[in-house]
Amino acid sequence: MRMNEQSTYLLNEKPCSIMKSFIDRTTLFAFDLDGTLAPIVSNPGKIGIPDSVRKEITILNHQAVVAVITGRSRLDAMQYMPITPSYLIGNHGAEGLPGWEKRERDFIRTVIKWQNHLELIFSSKETTGISIENKGATLSIHYRKADNVKTAHALILSAVNQLIPQPRRISGKYIENLIPDGAPDKGVALMLLMHHAKRQKAFFAGDDETDEDVFRLRDKNIFSVRVGRKNGSRAHFHLRGQNEIVRLLRGINYIIGQTKK
Ligand SMILES: [Mg+2]
Repeated sequence: MRMNEQSTYLLNEKPCSIMKSFIDRTTLFAFDLDGTLAPIVSNPGKIGIPDSVRKEITILNHQAVVAVITGRSRLDAMQYMPITPSYLIGNHGAEGLPGWEKRERDFIRTVIKWQNHLELIFSSKETTGISIENKGATLSIHYRKADNVKTAHALILSAVNQLIPQPRRISGKYIENLIPDGAPDKGVALMLLMHHAKRQKAFFAGDDETDEDVFRLRDKNIFSVRVGRKNGSRAHFHLRGQNEIVRLLRGINYIIGQTKK
């Protein structure tokens, strides 16, 4: 596989032929949800996987081991899933990993502690518009609805600094995600799934900052695709946008359909 520094646009002849020689029925196929299988919408409660994508991911799920690794909680993600994948991993990798049940309960306890502390801090008038989402193994603080998002963000950062134990923090658009120390990220999660599913090779597509944890692995046994080109991304390949995911899935299904069972 090409290991150049900038990702390559995937849907051209040469990159497609590299993909064709990489994937087969024994590959683990993993996808992010929001912005990858489903287009991003302004209200995260209103996402939907387009019918064309539903059709292709259903076909793929019948032919190979499929995993969905999302920042949402599993319960939340489940309501948007047209398939029951072999693995549905939530909380950016921290929820639903086989063998991690006990550690996951520790993460949940830590998150409740953080939530109690943050709710006390965010009960004043000046923090109106800041909301806490306890997602189980991780916690998200939203501030899209704050009157002054800059002030809200500064308040959040100072509150997060007071938390014990200190979380790993991942910033998103008007959101701060707090992850317990030691919780698996998406990269660790994918490696664990490959091991659990006894798969030597994996294919992964995602568009988030947290998906970089997979891209950064730069593992020759992981074919990585970023949805949307981004400078500095460590993904091997990229699509121009989420609307191209259906073409990619069609291509994968075509290639796998031609390989022997
Ligand atoms: Mg995403």
